[in-house]
Amino acid sequence: MAKAGLPRVAVIGAGPVGLEAALYAHAAGLPVAVYDRGQAAEHLLRWAHVRLFTPFGLSTTPLGRHTLFRADPKRQLPADADHVTAKEFRDGYLAPLAESEPLRGLIQVQHAVVAVGRSGRGKKTDPDDPKRPPGPFRLLVRGPNGAERMDTADVVLDCTGVLDAPNWLGDGGVPAVGEAAARPNLPVGVVDVLGEARQRFADRSVIVVGDGYSAATVVCDLAALADGHPATWVIWLTRGQRTQPLPRLANDPLRERDRLAARANSLPTRCDANLEFHPLTLLHEVVCHGPDQGFRVTGRRAGRPVVWEVDRVIAAVGYRPSLAMCEQLRVDEPVGKPETREPGYFVLGARSFGRDSGFLLRDGHDQIRRVFAAVLGKPGLDLYAGKAA
Ligand SMILES: Cc1cc2nc3c(=O)[nH]c(=O)nc-3n(C[C@H](O)[C@H](O)[C@H](O)COP(=O)(O)OP(=O)(O)OC[C@H]3O[C@@H](n4cnc5c(N)ncnc54)[C@H](O)[C@@H]3O)c2cc1C
Repeated sequence: MAKAGLPRVAVIGAGPVGLEAALYAHAAGLPVAVYDRGQAAEHLLRWAHVRLFTPFGLSTTPLGRHTLFRADPKRQLPADADHVTAKEFRDGYLAPLAESEPLRGLIQVQHAVVAVGRSGRGKKTDPDDPKRPPGPFRLLVRGPNGAERMDTADVVLDCTGVLDAPNWLGDGGVPAVGEAAARPNLPVGVVDVLGEARQRFADRSVIVVGDGYSAATVVCDLAALADGHPATWVIWLTRGQRTQPLPRLANDPLRERDRLAARANSLPTRCDANLEFHPLTLLHEVVCHGPDQGFRVTGRRAGRPVVWEVDRVIAAVGYRPSLAMCEQLRVDEPVGKPETREPGYFVLGARSFGRDSGFLLRDGHDQIRRVFAAVLGKPGLDLYAGKAA
């Protein structure tokens, strides 16, 4: 505990959720340290061109907007209903927040937390022994030149996201034969095929694997690319047995998300979309013939062997949370809530949903409110309430 008896909070990861959590901790008067292995909100640059399907008002908090307006009353923020791209969101909201007065000096960029343990706990100690209350957390921190040091904290908020551990393409979640070796040539997630990667994909045959919104975004963008580059050909592979690629949520309140699903689902039935759709496809082998030499992809479709030779493969099959950092703690694979079996250790943000890609920033903001109410033992605490933006 810090001198005043207040718990010292360590926030690991300065993504959108880590930044909001640090801001909340500061507003609650708690001592807080933030670590990011890269730059603040760095992961958003991996999908910088993508337009958020949540409007700006739902992606931000009253505390965040209040902080920015207090620093600069003339600041122009997007309207609550606007849909900005990830880059616009980072540059216009998250980066200024990271530099704002409450967080200034608290964020240690290029500092990775390598491991978290608990002081005094060993192989033979019983973590539930009431005579041995848990000691503070010990965080092994690695700085930019590899220099290591040990920090301590009473509460740890793990906001590290999932983007560092993409899922494998192979059946059963294991790598397909040859996939690990092919990885350097096999882009993951929402590749910017209409922007910086345009030349690599125009007039090429492309396999896209995945049945979520990321796959849908890439497929729609490739279809748009094919309008001007008619030799572009898309082979969309999914594991499930749905007749259409994406489920439409009944009365989806996020209109842009629903529009994306509808647009993607319409492509396999259009005769001019330069696209074939193969559900029920399980992959066995993904062999890269060399940089820019193409791929051989084999598997089974509805039980029958299939093989494709294509120029490019994009893996949009989601991510999983790696547990390596906290393997000394009682932290299981997250399944949608921030609480863990380890008192004082919380998993927030995209990581808290584990393999479920349905996380939205507003879920993270809700988690922040609940976790700090629990940490401070004040069930009604809500520092967002009454904050005029
Ligand atoms: C393509 C795409 C579109 C999305 N669209 C929306 C949308 O429209 N609306 C919405 O609400 N949500 C959307 N999401 C979901 C979610 O809001 C984002 O993934 C968001 O970035 C999650 O924020 P985060 O802070 O939990 O994690 P991240 O943004 O992934 O941030 C994690 C941070 O932790 C750091 N880090 C990782 N490991 C360590 C370590 N060991 N030590 C120190 N630092 C570390 C990373 O460098 C990174 O900065 C989308 C996600 C994707 C991928």
